[in-house]
Formats: sequence, C-alpha cells, structure tokens
Amino acid sequence: MRRSRGLVKRLVQELRWLRNTLDWMPDGWIVLQDRGVIEAANRSARSLLGLARNDRRRRLQDVVRDRAIEGLVRGDVEDGIVELPSPVDEARRLELRHLTVDSARSIILIRDVTMLDRLLTMRQDFIANVSHELRTPLTVIIGYLEALEDEDIDKETLRRLLGRMRSPADRMKALVEDLLTLTRLESSPMPGKDDIRQVHAASMLESAVKEARQLATPAHDIVLEAEETLRADAVPGELHSAFFNLITNAIRYSPDGGVVNVRWLRGETGPRFEVEDRGVGIPEEHLSRLTERFFRVDMAEGRVRGGTGLGLAIVKHVLRRHRTQLQVRSDLGAGSLFAFELPPLADFDHPASSRMPAPGVVAVSTSVPIAQ
Ligand code: ADP
Repeated sequence: MRRSRGLVKRLVQELRWLRNTLDWMPDGWIVLQDRGVIEAANRSARSLLGLARNDRRRRLQDVVRDRAIEGLVRGDVEDGIVELPSPVDEARRLELRHLTVDSARSIILIRDVTMLDRLLTMRQDFIANVSHELRTPLTVIIGYLEALEDEDIDKETLRRLLGRMRSPADRMKALVEDLLTLTRLESSPMPGKDDIRQVHAASMLESAVKEARQLATPAHDIVLEAEETLRADAVPGELHSAFFNLITNAIRYSPDGGVVNVRWLRGETGPRFEVEDRGVGIPEEHLSRLTERFFRVDMAEGRVRGGTGLGLAIVKHVLRRHRTQLQVRSDLGAGSLFAFELPPLADFDHPASSRMPAPGVVAVSTSVPIAQ
C-alpha cells in the first residue's frame, strides 16, 4: 500500500511538472474531443485565442467565432492549416494547424506568425523594388538597342546613341553594387576587436570628398574641417562607404553650387562625423523611415536625383556593425545634418547583441534651424 501510494504521488508530481512545462511553450495547443469540444489547452493557446479557463467543455467554434476555425474543426480545410487575425489583437496573425489523433480526439497547434508574415511581405516588396529599379534603365537601353538595329545608321548617330546608353548602364551597375554591399554587410559576422583598424579619418575623408566632388555638377562648395590627429577605430572599407554615402546625399539633396560642411571632430562619446547641407530637408514624419531600403521622400518638383535608394540602408548597417547609430537633424526647406559617433575600441569586445543600439535613425531634432 505504502509503495503504491508513493508511486501515485510521484506520478501526480510528474504530471504536474509536464503540464507546467507544456503551459510555458510559446506555441499554443488545444486538445479537442469529438466535434470540437475543448478538453485541454495550454496557457499560450488561451492567451493567443482569448480563451477563459471555464471555456473547457465548450466547442471551440462557439468560443472563437471564425469561419476558418469552423472549417478547420470540421476537417474541410486543405492541409489542415488556416491563418487568421488573432481574436485578441487584430494586428497579430495566427496559424492554426489541426492534427487528428484518433477517431474521437484531435489537437490544434497555434503559432504566432506575425513576424514571419512581416518578413515575407518585406521580401516580396524588396524583390518588387529591385525588379522595378532594374527594369527602368533596362527599358531605356533596349530602346536604344532597337534604334541601333537600323542598318543605315551613320557613325555620328551611333556614337550618340551609345553615349546615351552609358547612364542607364551605370545606374544598373550602381544598384547591383549597392545590393552586393548590403548583402555582405548583413550576412558577415559582426566585426570584433581583431577586425578593427586605426584609421586616419582625415585623409579618408579627403579622398571621399574628392570622389564625391566628381559627382557634383556644377561644383558644390564642400568644406572639410577634420582634426588631423583624431583617429577612428573602424573597419576601413565600411567607414569609407558610410562617409561617401552621407556626403553624396548632402550634395544630391542640396541646390547646385550649395555649401556642404563635412566635419571630423571630438564628440561627446568619441570621434564624431558630421555632414551638413543647406538643401531640401526632410519632413519630420519621414525621418524614422529613411534607412529602409528603397525608401525615398517624394520631392515637390518630382525630380529624380539618381541614387539607388540603398545608401542610407548601407550606412545603417555599417553603423550597427560599429555599435553606433545614425543621428539626423533636419529642417524642411533649410537643410539637414547627418552625424554619428564611434564608440571606443573596448566596445568591440562585447557580444554584439547586448551592446548594439536599436537599428534605425535617431531624430535629434527637426525644429531647430541648422542652416543660418
Ligand atoms: P537615395 O539613393 O535615394 O539617395 P538613400 O538611402 O541614400 O537613397 O536616401 C533615402 C532618402 O532619404 C532619399 O531618397 C532622400 O529622400 C532622403 N535623403 C537622404 N539624404 C538626404 C539629405 N541630405 N537631404 C534631404 N533628404 C535626404
């Protein structure tokens, strides 16, 4: 008797342990009896579907009124899987999977797929954007190629047409290069202390400004002020790409011949880079989206200013890999200031996830006029 009492006690304990463990699974499960009567459900299932404890013994399709669930319980759904908005929070998406155990019992597994759905949508949007960006210059090139097929074409026209194909071809090349850079930044491991070099930022900035000047037509007045002795602890190629992208944007989004200030100075937490323009500025509501791939602010004049739409996404990734963040201050119609500060070398010792700032842009201020 004593032995079997001990056994029962141990079994009850184990059952309780099992139940508790299953309760804490992030995915929900519900055991249904014949015709959808709820026999048991874990904590996640209750919170995902908004079930109360006393919903036991009620039919699931009566508790959560949704056609998809009715069909699922009846067994009318192909593959036994449906997706629906959470009855508790419309913004969340749930995936319900129905598995038959035997003739009288079945299980419903519930998974929150909001994040997965968002990623899939992002992927679709990304592919659509890339295709669109490539199709436009390709269509132009194909148009010229058709004109070239004319056999009577004289040498002068031939040269002119070939010259016109240059710009769309360059655009496609820039886009593909930016895409490759972005992929590399996203997929390579976070740089550690061994990947960091002491960079003479003043001369790196000088060459970035020189390169950017070649794009400026007619020449913008680019004023570089850099502390000669202030070094940057960074991955050189990545830092150069951040400098170059931010400087070319300042040129691209400010009037021809405008003044662009580039500064390399001591900031509050470390070396600081700043680029300030007196250009079109950015409406406040767009600041948080600037670093999204292919996000562009609609311009009043409807002008397209070149660029791949990936520059700031590249900058975001570079800065994230350097454990820092982009700061933006902008005044619509008056100009913008883009800046970042580099952390001390010791920060590269820490695992990235715990020290990494949240991605995106810090909008420092939009109301303070920066261009006097
Ligand atoms: P793009 O190749 O279109 O310049 P980016 O990712 O570099 O792509 O920038 C995203 C958008 O942010 C730009 O299309 C532009 O609308 C806005 N932007 C970036 N830099 C500036 C700036 N200095 N002044 C005003 N708007 C800017």
